[in-house]
Amino acid sequence: LMVPHKTIKKICCIGAGYVGGPTCAVIAEKNPDIIVTIVDINPTRIAAWNSDTLPIYEPGLDKIVKGCRGRNLFFSTDVDKGIIEADLIFVSVNTPTKKKGVGAGYAADLGYVESATRHIARVAQSDKIVVEKSTVPCRTAHSMRYILEANARPGIHFDILSNPEFLAEGTAVPDLMRPDRVLIGSLDTLAGRAAAASLADIYASWVPRGQIIAMNLWSSELSKLAANALLAQRISSINALSAICEATGADVDEVSYACGLDTRIGSKFLKASVGFGGSCFQKDILNLVYLSESLHLPEVAAYWRQVVEMNEYQKRRFTDRVISSLFNTLTGKKIAILGFAFKKDTGDTRESPAITLVNYFRAERANISIYDPKVEDSQIWMDLTEPGVVDDLAELQKQVSIATNAYSACDDADAVVICTEWDEFRDTYLDYGRIYENMKKPAFVFDGRLILDRNRLEGMGFRVETIGRAASS
Ligand code: NAD
Repeated sequence: LMVPHKTIKKICCIGAGYVGGPTCAVIAEKNPDIIVTIVDINPTRIAAWNSDTLPIYEPGLDKIVKGCRGRNLFFSTDVDKGIIEADLIFVSVNTPTKKKGVGAGYAADLGYVESATRHIARVAQSDKIVVEKSTVPCRTAHSMRYILEANARPGIHFDILSNPEFLAEGTAVPDLMRPDRVLIGSLDTLAGRAAAASLADIYASWVPRGQIIAMNLWSSELSKLAANALLAQRISSINALSAICEATGADVDEVSYACGLDTRIGSKFLKASVGFGGSCFQKDILNLVYLSESLHLPEVAAYWRQVVEMNEYQKRRFTDRVISSLFNTLTGKKIAILGFAFKKDTGDTRESPAITLVNYFRAERANISIYDPKVEDSQIWMDLTEPGVVDDLAELQKQVSIATNAYSACDDADAVVICTEWDEFRDTYLDYGRIYENMKKPAFVFDGRLILDRNRLEGMGFRVETIGRAASS
């Protein structure tokens, strides 16, 4: 990276979401001399970033944003101005799975990336470094460069970099403060290397140089998809083993512990559960599947597709276990759902397994009460209805209610189903004795996240069923 390069003074981030917001807030905090403006076309989101209640919940984020906001960190809906003033622009817009047309259900919808890119080309009046922050299919930078060059004003030059984000929701701030690595992909030209060096300087304010890795654009783009695919694959692998455990008397926590002690395997991310959720894993693997198919590699596509299929199977298998334990009928029974977020310490519900579970239980005509400490009620209703279908909501509310705390969710319930591993649902926090008193008997607990001490709860009188362990007889 030892090439002459520009020092960045102004940054613009297009997309004030789960990634753009926290990432650029940390960049602003660590680089007080750089002006960072985060822009978005969604005025409600920008208003929330400028208010006391930020649009996303991340432990530690409030303090950082409130410390820098108005000093060198700004949130705005003025995308033109953000682009015009910046030397370096992050594109951190959403890249959801395509819903219609070619590749529907697999391919990434690059419409938002394309429109942000066209916007940059249209308004830029000086040279810019454009950084892909969004997770994109391999070779997207090629298309972006093409769009930029074809639409640029005369004499304006764009450099394009790939800088995928590896933060995990719920731990975004610590992940950004101490990243395992920062990838910067660039073209292997003098200009490309210079642009990469400019971006590297920004991260070097707090990330050790040895962890800032330069590579070619395509490796950088593919590394993000690969990392998510490998992480999700570990979960599907341990979940596949959990099914064998339940059928044999092996205990998945013990198997995971035993395997994790092997330093070649490692112990992290080997926890069995009801399945992974979140906006990224499924989308990025499907994206990889689509990429493999379009490269005429059907066996590779099938290999990765199985990771997603195993995840669907795990959710279905867990639901079936609940139903069969409750004497094969849920009609008129009350199921308490503890946790609706896709993981703890976030209010995000995108692809949350809880949504799938509730829909399965509804189909079995159960009454359902949901409690989550961070997810907004309006979000839950939105996740459980088709947008805009109001009649559906009335129908839904005959069957589903949202509780204000875990105890009221469990009152009169036949079964409690743990869907999210919130610390406050552990038996060391929640008074399961009190819950037991107010439940129908037999009182069932289904632990979809392996957070409960089964023996302790069974001692209270519960029937406890956990992922990866056979039911007690
Ligand atoms: P998000 O939906 O929370 O935020 C994206 C924002 O971009 C939205 O607020 C949207 O209004 C805005 N936007 C879209 N088009 C725009 C345009 N043309 N101009 C201005 N604003 C525009 O998404 P996110 O979770 O922040 O994810 C962003 C990207 O980062 C995705 O590609 C995702 O795969 C990737 N990523 C996400 C995570 C995560 O944990 N959420 C982690 C790593 C990478």
